[in-house]
Amino acid sequence: MAKYNFDTEYDLVVVGGGGSGKSAALTAAQAGLSVVILEKMAETGGSSIYAEGTCAFESSEQKERKVPKDAGKHFPSREEGFRRYTEYSHHRANPDVVRMHVDNTAETIDIMKSLGIVYTDVTIYAYDQPLELYTFHRPDGLGERVQEVLLRACVNAGVDVFTSTPAKKILTDGGAVVGVQALDKDGNVMTIGCKALILASGGYGNNPDLVQKYSWLHRAAYDTYKCVPTENTGDGLKMALETGADTDNIGPVMIIPCARGKTLTSHVSGAGSQPVLWVNKTGRRFASEHVAMSFADAGNTIAKQPQATIYAIIDADTIKHLMEDGSDIGLGDFIEYHLKLTRLQAELDQDVADGIAWKGGSIEELGRNIGLDPAVFAATVAEYNEACAKNYDPLFFKPAQFLRPVKKAPFYAINMAGSVLVSDGGIRVNGDLQVTDREYKPIPGLYAVGNDASGLFGDTYNLDCPGTANGFAHTSGRVAARHAVKTIKGL
Ligand SMILES: Cc1cc2nc3c(=O)[nH]c(=O)nc-3n(C[C@H](O)[C@H](O)[C@H](O)COP(=O)(O)OP(=O)(O)OC[C@H]3O[C@@H](n4cnc5c(N)ncnc54)[C@H](O)[C@@H]3O)c2cc1C
Repeated sequence: MAKYNFDTEYDLVVVGGGGSGKSAALTAAQAGLSVVILEKMAETGGSSIYAEGTCAFESSEQKERKVPKDAGKHFPSREEGFRRYTEYSHHRANPDVVRMHVDNTAETIDIMKSLGIVYTDVTIYAYDQPLELYTFHRPDGLGERVQEVLLRACVNAGVDVFTSTPAKKILTDGGAVVGVQALDKDGNVMTIGCKALILASGGYGNNPDLVQKYSWLHRAAYDTYKCVPTENTGDGLKMALETGADTDNIGPVMIIPCARGKTLTSHVSGAGSQPVLWVNKTGRRFASEHVAMSFADAGNTIAKQPQATIYAIIDADTIKHLMEDGSDIGLGDFIEYHLKLTRLQAELDQDVADGIAWKGGSIEELGRNIGLDPAVFAATVAEYNEACAKNYDPLFFKPAQFLRPVKKAPFYAINMAGSVLVSDGGIRVNGDLQVTDREYKPIPGLYAVGNDASGLFGDTYNLDCPGTANGFAHTSGRVAARHAVKTIKGL
């Protein structure tokens, strides 16, 4: 007798309608499988709609361009990419997954182009960042357009898309995946039978309990700030663990500095993310602020501070500089390199009125308003101004070009927080994206892709290969779907 009485059946169920889920669904549907995407939110897209760039190696776009726009730079080979992921992770990355990624990202770019995506540049994330490889393929219309185009392609290929339908439980028979339980739009339980299931639920970044349990952010999990309205709460990870899966390098969480209460495109957040004077709740500096050039490293630095909070301190001259000359460093498309932060003063005045930023006529007054020890804070600023005057930072060796004094009143403090964008990894997979159990054996019919899958990272997101999360999402989705197609068709 059949173990389950399914409400409906498909060859393949994909849990999550972000970049990895849609790429998987499209591949499988084009190969002739019946496919459904279950999406928890009212719309598909997930965190992938925010992605500005997609990582690829030896792509047609890189080959056509021959060399990057910046003098003396080159486009990296797959071999260079393989080495960089491996070394950046201190060999904690899974070589099979890294190899799958570097070998297949070029095809991702070609598929996107065939769907109508135009790439305007192949560059790096942060201008002037010496360690970054030129892998960042910028699509016209950014992630939002890519996700729109992919959704249309999925629907045209016959994929069913059930929105507001969270998957809840994987159903197995004899150790193999045979279906999934979900809640429909009205909250009723539905069961869907399938021959394969791909978990593409975007990781656990929005679940502070899981961030606390699994990532190195255990102290700061509840102090981080949520700057994007995603709901990637680790559902795939939880369901996989219930099904006998194992975890691997579950720690990587992508953290970016963002002004608390603001978005990444706000000019206040953009100003606070510059390498200006940063102090923590003790009123002291804690790093060379030029760490801001890599948001992953800056995120790590901020997340270590008490309550994962720092204050970016700027004076009237720096405000004028940022408004008239533009930013000193770029933050992708959120705050472009040399973007004039023209809204900064107006936004700051509003934030001070709203109590989420602070102003002072003197440094001591600013310190008191923030709630810092005014004497310690004043000594920090005096020491920093001396370093600026000498063009030499004896404390943290901050590069001289970023030593900008804090002298001209009024003074402002911006409340910067470590902000979790997504988690990168969790469920251990092999090079075909099959979920493996504690004995490293594949669980029949179960795959994990995108941010649900582990394998590319150690403890920190690798910004040396910018666009990795999104490149991996699309690539892993497609590779998993191809394996599922072969298995289902008995090839
Ligand atoms: C602001 C921001 C900017 C970024 N910029 C970049 C960038 O420039 N380059 C880059 O490489 N990466 C970037 N990233 C990261 C990148 O967007 C993602 O890591 C990657 O695209 C994730 O794809 P995914 O398919 O794994 O997850 P997502 O795209 O997040 O999709 C997961 C989907 O699963 C759904 N879901 C969750 N639980 C369930 C459930 N139980 N049932 C059904 N559905 C469920 C979610 O609602 C979501 O739609 C950025 C992220 C953010 C937040």
